[in-house]
Amino acid sequence: MAVRILSGEEIAEKKANDLRARIENLGLEPSLKLIQIGNDEAASIYARAKIRRGKKIGIDVDLERYDEISVSDLLRRIKDIAADPTINGLMIENPLPKGFDYYEIVKEIPYYKDVDALSPYNQGLIALNREFLVPATPRAVIDILDHYGYHETTVTVINRSPVVGRPLSMMLLNRNYTVSVCHSKTQNIAAYTKNAKVVVVAVGRPGFLNGSMVSGDSVVVDVGINYVNDRVVGDADFEDVSKHVEAVTPVPGGVGPITATNILENVVRAAEFQKMMK
Ligand code: NAP
Repeated sequence: MAVRILSGEEIAEKKANDLRARIENLGLEPSLKLIQIGNDEAASIYARAKIRRGKKIGIDVDLERYDEISVSDLLRRIKDIAADPTINGLMIENPLPKGFDYYEIVKEIPYYKDVDALSPYNQGLIALNREFLVPATPRAVIDILDHYGYHETTVTVINRSPVVGRPLSMMLLNRNYTVSVCHSKTQNIAAYTKNAKVVVVAVGRPGFLNGSMVSGDSVVVDVGINYVNDRVVGDADFEDVSKHVEAVTPVPGGVGPITATNILENVVRAAEFQKMMK
C-alpha cells in the first residue's frame, strides 16, 4: 500500500484562517516583539518568516535587532516590554552571543507574554497538565497527529531538548499517549522505534531514521531541519522510510509550516488573555 504523506500545509492554512477570525473578535491588532542579537543567518530567516506570516494574518511583528547589548541592558529592555501594554508577546531569538544564558534570560519574560513558552512557568504548567502557552514545535507535532486521526497510542520521541522532546513528551502524556524518550545515550534506539506506533525524530542528523528502525504500521513525524547541498532535508531517510511505514511527514512541508503559525497562535492567545485580565 502507498505510504500516506502527512502534509502540514493544509493544517497551517486552516490555523491561519482561525486566527484571522479570533483577531477580528479581539478587535485589536496583536503585537509581537522579536529581539535578535547578532546576525545569525538561520535566526534572521526565521524572524523574517514570522514577520511575513504575521502580515498575512493581521499580527504586527516587530524585529528589534542589536549588534551588541550587555546582559543587564537586555534584562532592562525585557522589563520595559513586560510593562508595555501595547506589546502582547516577546520572543528572544536563539542563538544568543557567548556569555548569555538563554534560559536565565527567558525566565524574565512574564509567562503571559512568553510566546515561545520556554520560561519555567509555562514549562511547569505543561508538566502539571495545565497547558497555557506551549512551544510551537511540539504543538505542531500534536496538530499533525490530531489532524490525521492518531490518538492515545504508543510514541517514541528521539530528542530530549527543552524546545522539542521535553515539552512534547509531557504534552503527549497529557493526551494519554504512552511515551518513550530516547537521546544520544540511549542504547539500541531501534528497539524503541520498532515498537511504537508513532516515531518522532528530532536529532538534527540527515538520514538518522531508516527503514530498518520502523515497523510496517508506524507513523513517522520528522522534525529535523538539515541543509544538504542547498536542500532542506529531515532526519528520516524519506525514500527508505516511506517504503516501510504507514505514514510519514515530508520535509519541507510537514512540521515546519505549522510551527511558524503556532508562534502567532500564541501571540493571539496572549492578547486574548491580556484583554480578559484588564
Ligand atoms: P538539540 O538541542 O541539539 O537536541 C537534539 C536531540 O537529539 C538531543 O536530545 C540529543 O541527545 C539527540 N541526539 C543527537 N544525536 C543523537 C543520536 N546519535 N542518537 C540519539 N539521539 C541523538 O536540537 P533541537 O533544538 O531540539 O532540534 C533538533 C532538530 O529539530 C534539529 O534538526 C532542528 O533543526 C529541528 N527543529 C525543527 C523545528 C521545526 O519547526 N521543524 C523546530 C525546532 C527544531 P542528547 O540530549 O543526549 O544530547
